[in-house]
Amino acid sequence: MTISGAWRRTARGAGLLAADGTVAASIFAEMSALAVRTGAINLGQGFPDEDGPAEVLDAARQAIADGVNQYPPGRGLPVLREAIARHQHRFYGLSVDPDTEVLVTAGATEALAATILALLEPGDEVVTLEPFYDAYGGLIALGGGIHRTVRLRAPDFQPDPDELRAVITDRTRLIIVNNPHNPTGAVLPRETLELIVSLAHRHDALIVTDEVYEHLTFGVPHVPVAMIPGASERTITISSGGKTFNTTGWKVGWLTAPAALVTAILAVKQFLTYVNGAPFQPAIARGLDLPDSFYSGIAADLRARRDVLESGLTAAGFTVSRPQGSYFIVADAAPLGYTDGAEFCRVLPDLAGVVAVPIGAFCSAANRPEYASLVRFAYCKKVDVLERAAAQLAGITAR
Ligand code: PMP
Ligand code: GLN
Repeated sequence: MTISGAWRRTARGAGLLAADGTVAASIFAEMSALAVRTGAINLGQGFPDEDGPAEVLDAARQAIADGVNQYPPGRGLPVLREAIARHQHRFYGLSVDPDTEVLVTAGATEALAATILALLEPGDEVVTLEPFYDAYGGLIALGGGIHRTVRLRAPDFQPDPDELRAVITDRTRLIIVNNPHNPTGAVLPRETLELIVSLAHRHDALIVTDEVYEHLTFGVPHVPVAMIPGASERTITISSGGKTFNTTGWKVGWLTAPAALVTAILAVKQFLTYVNGAPFQPAIARGLDLPDSFYSGIAADLRARRDVLESGLTAAGFTVSRPQGSYFIVADAAPLGYTDGAEFCRVLPDLAGVVAVPIGAFCSAANRPEYASLVRFAYCKKVDVLERAAAQLAGITAR
């Protein structure tokens, strides 16, 4: 039986449609399964291996005990929407109305899905950076959009301004920014954000900015696109509690945008999940109100973990690009004699008892060769786990 429908173009857009028409698992699912099967240390999928702040976990238990167990309002519980508005003001000086300019979603993923599906017409172009988080490719295709990219190149993975000017045109409906960037760990400087905003104005495009790693930058401030003058009227800002509070399994995310855009996105969101995570919403609100010391603490802590993995990878013979933010570091396996990162990741459990993911999985087929020897390692793991991984990686002999 031929199964028709949008699944095929969605899988193709995410690079998961095989030549024989079958759908592969996402690279994260595949590599986590490989780690389980081999007992290797999982530095593939980006999730922390420790719990986040006790206040947040306790608040969720309390909310369940208090009976916060039924459908929350479609836009999210007021306590969370208000905390999101306070957070935007405290960290960035941004004013958003919690009643009309905030929408709580099932993770950043649903925020992305609802935004893209709500704002895209079939045939519209959507610009992303490349490598890109896999959901962008899948969702743009599901929405019938045409995916254009601006490539980020090693070692610093910054976009070329002329390429941005060339790729963003009157055909561009959405520009998806991801800052700090997954998978490269790059943080975009203010001048790049300013250029993107001016191009969005010139070509009447909207900006969708995925800032889930907003609190995880190392020595550089996070600048939300919405802070750039002229941006907020055409920007949808997306974030999530998953990375900040080590609660990736709770799937509480949100977006902030002008009221008319929120209303348009809500029209779609209400038929995706409608709502989710009632008792987790006040718990994330509690987290968003934690003092500044919590936030500086998580960034400093993750930076130390980055340093452990970075020195381990360098000592093992990889060429690494130092990330300024996010959970991830990119390493080039070519100096070790491995020019195919996908093949390298498949044998890495045998070579070193470690799992990583190939950067090619975040690229379109046409551009994959350029990134072939690069692999992504996650350092959002316990220090002793990272030290063990580093020691094991040091045992790889170049071929
Ligand atoms: N965007 C980026 C860049 C991510 O790395 C992730 C998850 N790691 C998401 C979105 C999805 O976030 P969530 O789990 O909140 O849906
Ligand atoms: N965002 C996580 C990563 O990049 C994984 C999320 C997922 O498995 N879809 O590793």
